[in-house]
Amino acid sequence: MPPVYTQTQLLIVGGGPGGYVAAIRAAQLGIKTTLVEGAALGGTCLNVGCIPSKALIHAAEAYAQARTQAAGRSALGIRVGGVELDLATTLDWKDGIVAKLTGGVGALLKKHGVTVVKGWAELIDGKTVEVRQPGIDPGEAPQRIQCEHLLLAAGSQEVELPFLPFGAGEGRVVSATEALAFGAVPKQLVVVGAGYIGLELGTAWRKLGAEVTVVEAQERILPGYDAELVKPVAQSLVKLGLKTMLAHRVEGLNAAGTALTVRDPQGTLLELPADKILVAVGRRPRSEGWGLERLMLDMNGRAVKVDAQCRTSMKKVWAIGDLTGEPLLAHRAMAQGELVAEVIAGHPGRFEPAAIPAVCFTDPEIVSAGHTPASAEAEGARRGFKVLQAQFPFAANGRALSLESPEGFVRVVARADNRLILGWQAVGAAVSELSAAFGLSLEMGACLEDVAHTIHSHPTLGEAVQECCLRALGQALHI
Ligand code: FAD
Ligand code: NAD
Repeated sequence: MPPVYTQTQLLIVGGGPGGYVAAIRAAQLGIKTTLVEGAALGGTCLNVGCIPSKALIHAAEAYAQARTQAAGRSALGIRVGGVELDLATTLDWKDGIVAKLTGGVGALLKKHGVTVVKGWAELIDGKTVEVRQPGIDPGEAPQRIQCEHLLLAAGSQEVELPFLPFGAGEGRVVSATEALAFGAVPKQLVVVGAGYIGLELGTAWRKLGAEVTVVEAQERILPGYDAELVKPVAQSLVKLGLKTMLAHRVEGLNAAGTALTVRDPQGTLLELPADKILVAVGRRPRSEGWGLERLMLDMNGRAVKVDAQCRTSMKKVWAIGDLTGEPLLAHRAMAQGELVAEVIAGHPGRFEPAAIPAVCFTDPEIVSAGHTPASAEAEGARRGFKVLQAQFPFAANGRALSLESPEGFVRVVARADNRLILGWQAVGAAVSELSAAFGLSLEMGACLEDVAHTIHSHPTLGEAVQECCLRALGQALHI
């Protein structure tokens, strides 16, 4: 049966944060846009990533607090009776948030006149995509869409360890997707990888009552962040009773398939019994299995190589988001999606952000935006400037104390000569919300004085941001 062809101006493969934002902006700019999504609108982020994980983290914290209160250990003097977890309701609540947001994406696409095609796209060439729709009669003509511009936004997928495949041990070995929806709280959860997912979800399940052990190949948790920043998180894990095994090598399952075998730094083989094993050792661009290789694009390993306008090596073929490699973050994908739509519409623009803030939703949270002291020193050595840095501890911030969260600090990194702010880091309760101020100051090219002399509301965690700049200028008021 010959294929049936339809035409569009912009064809987007993938309806995650990158693809759906690109579609909305393109439609706003008058570009006839079609978006093909094989699974669910909202992609990894809305369905099995950012949103459900943060919902679970919040529920786990609420439960942990209630248990503290029930045990008579609340410093606030709150005492409650018996505490019970109705996990099915917790998961329904989390799924409700996902449904609301993914439904919202569908409505926004509809409102803007984007044509959404449900099905898996197979690239035929740089201008043609064939869509395999679920449940299609094999006798039916395949649907092909031709376009002027092709935007690849297929995202990423979890890395699988060959000696510990997902599903092994009768379903014991799982990815984050399953770990967001365990039907019961695992008695013993072993997590492989102390990165973002391992620590965010490991902490959540610990608070929900599981015994959790995190096995990490490197010598410390969250090896992507600087050691000082991670210290309060490591201390909190100890307090929570979450066990970490650092510099351990995972070997696989034991013969019975009931325990994870790991080798400690001395070479001794250990068995960690587990009813669930979450493997969270990274994600990789989804660059196989949908005809991408036919385009013979320039690649950076498994990631599609793009320039500062998200152009690939083929004319009028663009790529954004996780498919283009690190950092694998939703807000980066969205920003690239917006940019590509604007460039296609003829607007000038380049993807050259001053910073892409990274937030780890551990307890306490971590934020990093722009240069760390080490990367600023290296840049300074290259470009001939000196660096200064200052920290302000939350222990000296009234709001942090009233939130029972005195641990952590804010750190600013700046040039010593002209006091241009180069970077920010923070660790503490709710510091994710400070990332907006950090990003803004870097994009606006703020100097220490700009932030130091801006009135910050009292009492807020934001005052620590201001005090940090005052301290860098030698004018600290509250320390
Ligand atoms: P995706 O969201 O992966 O979307 C790609 C879409 O393309 C998918 O829906 C997929 O079904 C579709 N697709 C792929 N191939 C085809 C095809 N051939 N045909 C049709 N459709 C196709 N990031 C943050 O910034 N903050 C967080 O807090 C955060 N938490 C996370 C928690 C977890 C557990 C995980 C797994 C990830 C988290 N991330 C977080 C990362 C974030 O989810 C990704 O960076 C983001 O989703 C990338 O967006 P994207 O549009 O590039 O790709
Ligand atoms: P990650 O890169 O954050 O962490 C993976 C960890 O696994 C690292 O510490 C690594 O050293 C360790 N590791 C690798 N191989 C191992 C092995 N064989 N044995 C033991 N440890 C091993 O990856 P992730 O946690 O899977 O998350 C994937 C991506 O998703 C992240 O890079 C991030 O971009 C994104 N994400 C972001 C957020 C957020 O923004 N808050 C949350 C979750 C996920």
